[in-house]
Amino acid sequence: MTSANALKELIAGADRITGFTGAGISTECGIPDFRSPGGFWTKNKPIDFRDFVSEPEARREAWGRFLKLRSEHLDVQPGRGHKALHRLHSDGKMPELITQNIDNLHQASGLPPTAIIELHGNGTYAKCLACDTRHEMVWCAEEFERTGECPTCTACGGLVKTATISFGQAMPEEEMRRAEMASLSCDLFLAIGSSLAVQPAASFPLVAAQNGAKLVIINREETPFDRFADLVVRDDIGEVLEAAIAP
Ligand code: NAD
Repeated sequence: MTSANALKELIAGADRITGFTGAGISTECGIPDFRSPGGFWTKNKPIDFRDFVSEPEARREAWGRFLKLRSEHLDVQPGRGHKALHRLHSDGKMPELITQNIDNLHQASGLPPTAIIELHGNGTYAKCLACDTRHEMVWCAEEFERTGECPTCTACGGLVKTATISFGQAMPEEEMRRAEMASLSCDLFLAIGSSLAVQPAASFPLVAAQNGAKLVIINREETPFDRFADLVVRDDIGEVLEAAIAP
């Protein structure tokens, strides 16, 4: 049996699926992942949240890097994997999807925002670290270009940062709670395009499996949790999801 057919069977037999996505679902859209050979982290050291808060140079570096990446990916569109997961939701099979991604492509595929649990935030806008006011990315880019410095909040003067979770930054409590519930309430958990190396996000597939859900891992490379999975698929994400979740 092909891996797509094996996945199709598991989906057909499931009552409640929780999806979980990482950077690998968006590589076919032109956004590189972080940990594939030659990926982003091999060239850029992560900027810790505490450094962002305390060091102007770290803030300049963070905004400079981010806006450069953003300018390279302004026209990205959802891929086959995003569209297939939207179908799974529309069919009533997958009420919620946990994502580590910050690219907004699940929303762009039509998946309702209420069905998406963003563990690492969203990179299409920014927020004030002091008063939480939302700031649009176009304004942030203009401010950074004008001043060469981290934008500051128009409401309170606080530091403005992309609405994403950096290393060293606290995880969002409500999203963590929802992700745990989604992992405990499903009978099939699909972990898609994640190296499962970033904690605490990577713990959710195990939470689901230990609670009795079937676990599917779809990832080109080996992950630390493959041995706990009922099905490991090493094929291309877009190809396998499109084949398994046909319109
Ligand atoms: P990761 O980079 O650690 O792992 C991605 C995995 O996807 C790799 O193991 C790679 O082999 C696999 N992969 C890539 N393309 C694939 C394909 N077409 N088919 C099958 N497998 C494929 O990603 P992660 O686990 O999500 O962790 C990275 C962190 O960085 C996340 O927390 C996320 O917030 C952030 N990030 C987000 C984006 C995004 O929003 N698109 C992009 C890069 C990084």
